[in-house]
Amino acid sequence: TVSFGIDDTLEILGIKHVNEGSSTGLNQFSNGDLIKSYSPVDGSLIGSVKATTKVDYEQVVNAATSAFKTWRLMPAPKRGDIVRQFGDKLREKKEALGKLVSYEMGKSYQEGLGEVQEMIDICDFAVGLSRQLHGLTMHSERFGHRMYEQYHPLGVVGIISAFNFPVAVWSWNVALAWICGDVCIWKPSEKTPLCGIACQNMAAEVFAKNNLPEGISCLINGDYKVGEFMTKDSRIPLISATGSTRMGKTVAQVVAARLGKTLLELGGNNAIIVTPDADIKMTVIGAVFGAVGTAGQRCTSTRRLIIHESIYNQVKQAIVKAYNQLRIGNPLDESNHVGPLIDSGAVAMYQNALHQVVEEGGTLIVEGGLLSGVGYESGCYVKPAIAEAQPHFKIVQHETFAPVLYLLKYSGAVEDAIAIQNNVVQGLSSAIMTHNLREAEQFLSHAGSDCGIANVNIGTSGAEIGGAFGGEKETGGGRESGSDAWKIYMRRQTNTINYTTDLPLAQGIKFDL
Ligand code: NAD
Repeated sequence: TVSFGIDDTLEILGIKHVNEGSSTGLNQFSNGDLIKSYSPVDGSLIGSVKATTKVDYEQVVNAATSAFKTWRLMPAPKRGDIVRQFGDKLREKKEALGKLVSYEMGKSYQEGLGEVQEMIDICDFAVGLSRQLHGLTMHSERFGHRMYEQYHPLGVVGIISAFNFPVAVWSWNVALAWICGDVCIWKPSEKTPLCGIACQNMAAEVFAKNNLPEGISCLINGDYKVGEFMTKDSRIPLISATGSTRMGKTVAQVVAARLGKTLLELGGNNAIIVTPDADIKMTVIGAVFGAVGTAGQRCTSTRRLIIHESIYNQVKQAIVKAYNQLRIGNPLDESNHVGPLIDSGAVAMYQNALHQVVEEGGTLIVEGGLLSGVGYESGCYVKPAIAEAQPHFKIVQHETFAPVLYLLKYSGAVEDAIAIQNNVVQGLSSAIMTHNLREAEQFLSHAGSDCGIANVNIGTSGAEIGGAFGGEKETGGGRESGSDAWKIYMRRQTNTINYTTDLPLAQGIKFDL
């Protein structure tokens, strides 16, 4: 258990007590409604934050638009230095922020710390990237001409994030957007508003220390209606939205109607294929962590295990045995493996999934159920469950954001397993457990996994920031974090320069005057 209490944590993070949380990053007076944040860990009220009103929002956008004019002119490596300072601030407050993440969202303290580490990592990545925002040069078809492309800052980036990664997803976006010369307005999930305030406080401190204007980092609070302020606003050229596919479909249409850009990171239905050549011990670790880590509330959580019939019983027994050893309870107690779900709505969805899989003909081999009594007073603790099911079941095709794992059997070759895996609408993360090179390469080939993430001999969750993160199909197609994901935060320009005294036209066109 962590040594400091939650009051100390709130103090370290500069979060004032109930009813005093600032409504926006600009700390202006607001008459917005109070959003109350209750911890799923013990059900207590941690604090309240004022929702952003339309009036507040206009002030935020004006501050952001005006700050952009200053920020875009700062050389990118100098912007990188500000992000470096922000990374240092995160290092300084890592334990406190990790604890708040754990307490407000319900993931284990280790995972809370891991989330903050991910923020630090993306800052480091962005610092180096700030010297590498390069375009190509190309040879012109015209004599005495030069062509090249460059990337310019885009403007105000709107970030909408989900409850399950209450701080990391924001950092993946802002660290890159800031070095690209953009300013950001963030609407965190209404289920984790205090994490938003804590991050905004840290960013504001760094910008103020460097005499930079308010508005480079902005925060707005509220539910989808506050999100809509941004999605409908043509002053915001890019909306990066992380959350459910349902949300993504709405956001994509609203932003497209004004021809804005979207970066969408939506739901997954991730599978691990377990072939006859799999290492069973590794499979069990990967599958169990993937299915029950963060109480099954990661976008990359393992939802389906597609197991070859020849080893099906062996894998099933090993996994059930591992589930019997799981300890469920307060996530701040490091001896527990599984913490609570986010709220009672999530518990209801979990219960509904268990009911539905049985109704469709599945069998629960690890029963699951809601826990009650001492230590479980919040009403959000559930037992991870396992069901034997068929790939086509409606519930198996659906992303249930809870610790419910479906065991599916395949016979025949690896292509059959790949077909089952790909036959869902989502396309985020996938994995194969095999020591057979042919199977592994088939899984990664053009005819293999159709997901944005495809792993060999590791599970579906736990991506590193160096690679581009995101998925295909109803996962939304966006890519964040590493590789060349930065390009979406910039506008691209092709330049042709003529250094002759003639004006030849392209394609040899003659236009004599
Ligand atoms: P959610 O869709 O309920 O909410 C996500 C965010 O979108 C919240 O901030 C919410 O207020 C906002 N929102 C909802 N409707 C909106 C609208 N019409 N306009 C503007 N904003 C709107 O999701 P959640 O329950 O917080 O998170 C769980 C979901 O997020 C899961 O489906 C999970 O897979 C997904 N997720 C995906 C990734 C990824 O990278 N692909 C990462 C984390 C979570």
